[in-house]
Amino acid sequence: MLDVLHRIVQKVNAAPDLDRALSVIVQEVKQAIRADVCSVYLTDFEQRRHVLRATHGLRRAAVGRVSLPLHQGLVGLVCERAEPLNLDDAPGHPRYRFITETGEVPYHGFLGVPIIQNRQVLGVLVVRQRDPRRFADEEVSFLFTLAAQLAGAIVHARVSGELSGSEEQAAGPERFLQGLPGAAGVAIGRAVVVYREADLDAVPDRPAEQPEQEIALLHRAVARVREELRRLQGQMQETLPAEELALFDALLLMLSGDTLVTQTIERIQAGEWVQSALHHTVEEHAAVFERMEDAYLRERASDIRDLGRRILMRLQSEQPERAEYPDRTILVGESVGAVELAGVPRSRLAGVICAGGSRSSHVAILARAMGVPAVMGVTDLPVARMEGREVILDGYRGRVYPSPTPSVRREYSRLLREEQVLSAELEALRGEPAVTTDGVPMTLYLNTGLVSEMSSLGTSEAQGVGLYRTELPFMVRDRFPGEESQGANYRRVLETFAPRPVILRTLDVGGDKPLPYFPVQESNPFLGWRGIRISLDHPEIFLTQIRAMLRAAVGLGNLRIMLPMVTRISEVEELTLLIQRAHDELQEEGEAVTLPPVGVMVEVPALVYQIEALARRVDFVSVGSNDLTQYLLAVDRNNPRVAELYDELHPSVLRALQQVVDGARSLNRPVSVCGEMAGNPLAAVLLLGMGVESLSMSAASLLRIKWVIRSFSRSRARQLLQAALRLEEGGQVRQMMEQALAEVGLERLFQVR
Ligand code: PEP
Ligand code: MG
Repeated sequence: MLDVLHRIVQKVNAAPDLDRALSVIVQEVKQAIRADVCSVYLTDFEQRRHVLRATHGLRRAAVGRVSLPLHQGLVGLVCERAEPLNLDDAPGHPRYRFITETGEVPYHGFLGVPIIQNRQVLGVLVVRQRDPRRFADEEVSFLFTLAAQLAGAIVHARVSGELSGSEEQAAGPERFLQGLPGAAGVAIGRAVVVYREADLDAVPDRPAEQPEQEIALLHRAVARVREELRRLQGQMQETLPAEELALFDALLLMLSGDTLVTQTIERIQAGEWVQSALHHTVEEHAAVFERMEDAYLRERASDIRDLGRRILMRLQSEQPERAEYPDRTILVGESVGAVELAGVPRSRLAGVICAGGSRSSHVAILARAMGVPAVMGVTDLPVARMEGREVILDGYRGRVYPSPTPSVRREYSRLLREEQVLSAELEALRGEPAVTTDGVPMTLYLNTGLVSEMSSLGTSEAQGVGLYRTELPFMVRDRFPGEESQGANYRRVLETFAPRPVILRTLDVGGDKPLPYFPVQESNPFLGWRGIRISLDHPEIFLTQIRAMLRAAVGLGNLRIMLPMVTRISEVEELTLLIQRAHDELQEEGEAVTLPPVGVMVEVPALVYQIEALARRVDFVSVGSNDLTQYLLAVDRNNPRVAELYDELHPSVLRALQQVVDGARSLNRPVSVCGEMAGNPLAAVLLLGMGVESLSMSAASLLRIKWVIRSFSRSRARQLLQAALRLEEGGQVRQMMEQALAEVGLERLFQVR
């Protein structure tokens, strides 16, 4: 059964649109369960009906025509209860409704299972039997398991179909695809797909611009692959047995047998560009083999794909680089790299959408640095079908509208205009102090990690750097950067801000920030080898970095060093000893280095309960609210499935923060917050109320937060904090804070967000 399950899910995932996906499902399930009928009803919540969308066994003509009111019939019952219904005599059930249009006879056996995604029933999968039949337990669980896996594939196929025009606009929430906010802002623009080379599935659908040239390109590529295969066959003559060598003959035959080539040419002539024409032809051929009973022949599907990949590789090596980007380019990809991002002129880059990744992926960090809105982790995004489409992305809420309706477009155009107006108004705050209405100052720092990220706004507005993520220069290289090159980098930041303080955080790789040249395989990377855990195990990496930092700061005196991912007090002791050692050695070498203040990030909940012991040993404390929230709530900060649960306004997070602030202040250690929370206007007021003295955020948030600070008194912030701590849900805190901001005329700060 597991085999069948995998096969069905795989086929559904490969289907180009919803109709083909559903027809695979009904056909395969009917056969697997040996039922007389299998049908899929999809629920249309706007029309309040369950619509028959596919069937094998009932009259085909009924598909799309027959529907049941939301709360009627057995299908309605399955949907309401959101659980399977297994009946040996369906007509005897009070909810049974007999429908004639489907060519139905009174089928007795009935098994219906709901298809659910994100707690919502998308539809119902039904199998029927003419005779009374109670489906066996394993059949129920088979269907149940299948339905659970199909929901995502159905949403994917539906969006794919919509995009290729074969599906009308889906109703309800599927009109946008949910991902994770990557970089704030909204964008309306044209999609340009970036794709992995030599990957057939990643090839985007595009029209052929010059079919004759594309055909010539194909012929050249095929000829080169043919040569390559002959050469390989010759080389293997000695080492492979004859039957294995026959594989090469089979592949060569496929190439000369013409169907693969001629069908690709036909597709090009019909208007597809060569790469997607090849992709679709290869998939069609592979699917024929996959349907074969004979296991040996089924295996040939992978040979055809391999052949396709070889031709594609040749095609891509001849494909000219993209010369033109649309005016408002939105880069779309399974993953988008720094190189691709840099390839688009900044004036033309409007946004980034990634099917994978998260807020802390490199591309998201770069996008924030460049002030380009980004949405990450859009798992249902049919990347290959996005090329050239007008799309809207909402980097505040992590949404992508792959085929926006006119009303959505109007709404987002309005938001874009409002954003521009707001930014212009905020400009008036440049140079003004961040002081509350009752005279309490709040220091605003910049979060940064790349020199290119230091926009003029960030460098002129921020009172220093509260978090410099040193891992970025490590991530964009192919080996560990040496002391000199690190030092040059740190010197630039320190000089840019001197005499203002700059907090350089020591290397925080691991977790979701792997280094390509330092692979770490872990099943639980966020709980694994990351941050200072790596530094302690590899003191040579840590010492090189500290030496580079200390030398870079000579004569400037504005360096602070901060340690990430600390769990134990003894770790801080060991690392401060190493810092001392680097300092002493440099002095011995004659360098005029000084020992800078050293601080710790509170990111692991354990430290909340040892805050006094920690504070005693360091010069300052900074709360990494991104990780602290993730670990306190046990919610992976990068997982779109649980993104709803990730909430920095959760009362427990607020309580933990309060405890950290009180503990550190009791020992006169300054406390700042440098996670995303610091740049959130609703949270900033609560942090002010707690007694946090500085907030560190990306450049885009600086003026917004300054506006917030200047609109509240410290005593009002304290009152709000006390009220928030009495609430039980993050949602309630959010509501209360939105109201408080609206009362002082700041509603645009969270409405435009
Ligand atoms: C944090 O965890 O809040 C933080 C600032 O560090 P990073 O986002 O780089 O993990
Ligand atoms: Mg962190």
